[in-house]
Amino acid sequence: MNSEQTKISKMAEILDLKEKISRLAQVGFLDVDIDPTLDLFAEIEKLKKEKNAILLAHYYQEADIQDIADFIGDSLQLAQKAQSTTADIILFAGVHFMAETAKILNPTKKVILPDLNAGCSLADSCPPEEFAAFKKNFPGYAVISYINCTAEIKALSDYICTSSNAEFIVNSIPKDRGIIFAPDKNLGGYLAKKLNREMVLWDGSCMVHEIFSLEKIRKLKEKHPAAKMIAHPECEAAVLELADYIGSTTGLLKYTQTDDAQEYIVATETGILHKMQQASPQKTFIPAPPNNGCACNDCPHMKLNTLEKIYLCLKYELPELLMDEELRIKAKVPIDRMLEISAAAGLKG
Ligand code: SF4
Repeated sequence: MNSEQTKISKMAEILDLKEKISRLAQVGFLDVDIDPTLDLFAEIEKLKKEKNAILLAHYYQEADIQDIADFIGDSLQLAQKAQSTTADIILFAGVHFMAETAKILNPTKKVILPDLNAGCSLADSCPPEEFAAFKKNFPGYAVISYINCTAEIKALSDYICTSSNAEFIVNSIPKDRGIIFAPDKNLGGYLAKKLNREMVLWDGSCMVHEIFSLEKIRKLKEKHPAAKMIAHPECEAAVLELADYIGSTTGLLKYTQTDDAQEYIVATETGILHKMQQASPQKTFIPAPPNNGCACNDCPHMKLNTLEKIYLCLKYELPELLMDEELRIKAKVPIDRMLEISAAAGLKG
C-alpha cells in the first residue's frame, strides 16, 4: 500500500468509527472490529494505566473479566469501592444500575460501561410511576429498596440495602414504623421471616434466582449426599428451605472458604463459582440447575459484557453513563444512609 492508499484507508476507518459512535445510542455498545492478533489482556492493562482508570467487576462477570479486574465484589463492596477510588475513570463491568450507583457516588468522575443493554430484570420489575403510586398507600412507612433498582426508585426510597447489609438496614428502623420493601419480594420475604418483621413487599423478582428447579436440586442432593446446598436470598422461599446456608454473594463465597464440607450445590448466578473454585481449588462446586433445560444459571444481562467490549469501552471511553443532576442528588441520600449504617456495622468492601 502506498502512502496515498494508507491515508485513504485511515480516513475510511475514521469515518466508519464516527458512524459506529453515532449509532451507539441505538446499538448500546461500540460495534467496532478489533485486530484478532491483539493481546486484549495486555492492551486493557495498558489503557488502564494510561488513563488512570479502574475496572470494577461484579462476581457474576465471566472468568476473563474477573481475572483482569482491579476489584471484584458484590453490590455493597462495589459501591464502597466506587466511593473511595481515586481513579479518573470508572469502568464498570456489571449491569446498568451498578454503573448508575457508581455515578451517583462520583459525579465528577467519568463512569463508562461496556454495554448499555446490560440491564436487570429485577430493576425492570419496578417502574417508578407505579412504585410512587404504591408508596402513597402507606404514608409514614420507611421505604427500603434493594440496590438492584433504577436511580428513579432509589430517589423514591429512604434507605438502600444490599443482601450483605439488609438485616442491619431493616433493624435500624424502629419497630413501630412500617416498612415497604422493594423491588425483590423473595429477599423481602426472607428478611421478614428471619427478622420477624412485617413488611409490605413490592412484587418484583430476579429472572435468574427465580427459576431454580426444586425437583432437580432434590435429585442433585440425592446424588451428592455429602454436598451442602447454599443459596442467595433472592431465590424463592421453597429453594431457601432446602439450603444449609443462605447469604449474599460474598457471604456464600466466605462460607465455602471457612466451612469444612468438600462439595457444594450453589443456588445463585454461576459467575461466583469461578471465585469459589479459585479460593478453594480442592473443593467441588456444582451449580444448582434452573428449570429451563440448562445445567447452570447465567444472568443474560451480566453476560453481555465481554473482554472485547471492555477493551473498546476503555479505548474510546464510551458508552458513558450520564445522569440528571437533580435525580443523582435525590438518589444519593438513601445510598449514603446505607453506607453509613454498613460502616457502623463494620461491613467493609
Ligand atoms: S442476576 Fe438477577 S438481579 Fe442480578 S443483574 Fe441479573 S437479573 Fe438483575
